[in-house]
Amino acid sequence: MIIVLKPESTEQDVNNIVERLQHAGLRAHISKGEERTIIGAIGDERVLKEIPLEVFHGVEQVIPILNPYKLVSREFQKNDTVIETKGVRLGGGHFQVIAGPCSVEGQGMILEAATKVKAAGARLLRGGAFKPRTSPYDFQGHGEDALKFLAQASAETGMPIVTELMDPRDIEVVCKYADIIQIGTRNMQNFRLLTEVGKTSKPVLLKRGLSASIKEWLMAAEYIASEGNRQIILCERGIRTFETATRNTLDISAIPIVKKQTHLPIVVDPSHAAGKRHLVTPLAKAALAAGADGLMIEVHPTPETALCDGAQSLPPEDFAKMMAELAPLAAALGTQIG
Ligand code: PEP
Ligand code: MN
Repeated sequence: MIIVLKPESTEQDVNNIVERLQHAGLRAHISKGEERTIIGAIGDERVLKEIPLEVFHGVEQVIPILNPYKLVSREFQKNDTVIETKGVRLGGGHFQVIAGPCSVEGQGMILEAATKVKAAGARLLRGGAFKPRTSPYDFQGHGEDALKFLAQASAETGMPIVTELMDPRDIEVVCKYADIIQIGTRNMQNFRLLTEVGKTSKPVLLKRGLSASIKEWLMAAEYIASEGNRQIILCERGIRTFETATRNTLDISAIPIVKKQTHLPIVVDPSHAAGKRHLVTPLAKAALAAGADGLMIEVHPTPETALCDGAQSLPPEDFAKMMAELAPLAAALGTQIG
């Protein structure tokens, strides 16, 4: 339920409504716009039938939200959410490219990757410290050492860092270094993890689950938002289908659907979708054309020696070429990259 207040409503009006909602066991989320204040009533809405919110002083309109996701829905917030970190804006017309290796393999390697992707036009640096590997025998990431290397690369280049958190026990150490916390595809429905990142003040990049519907994905985002953190970036990274020619199938249609259903920005990761280097640029172009707010691209200084995901990683020269090819497309679409 959304309660839209009149422009002349007072602080006291807001407090009265919030108190009444809380008394009924609901949570109130206040959103102060330029002209109006909106209150979102979150919880078991059946109790609202007993409360005549329309007659409260200062109330203009009471609108039921039909979708099961409330705070992340377009109904709750009309304007696009813009995520800002270290002066870099993403969403609401700001298209950004996040680039870097699958995993941080060493200090020199991440600095080289950061310098080269920055020179090609990426504004955010990615790199895994804790890696969610299908096999327990595969490289699991360098943990806190990798986070320190990322922080050094960030300090030298000024690029904000995106890195994955897999376990609530690591939240403190990841938050110490990361600018944006990534929740990986395998953890999209790890509700305890979502709840924990929802309590932080760091933006969260939420990858779509391997077999998750768009609705399930948005419900996962709602878990984060319902804890108070509405700084969420959605990331489409391909879903499981019967097709075996690609690692996953990039769901391009998710982009316009998500843009319609939610105010949250959406970025596309063609690297994990494709699993093959030669598909990354064409899929990146498709994502830009379909209205995505950004891209996440795996780039490795020497993909042939990569400890994970070398097959889909672009060498820096190919990444620079991709960026050069995206530029005229972006211009034709009226989108600015960076
Ligand atoms: C990653 O971004 O390195 C990663 C593991 O991605 P996903 O969770 O999409 O598989
Ligand atoms: Mn990877």
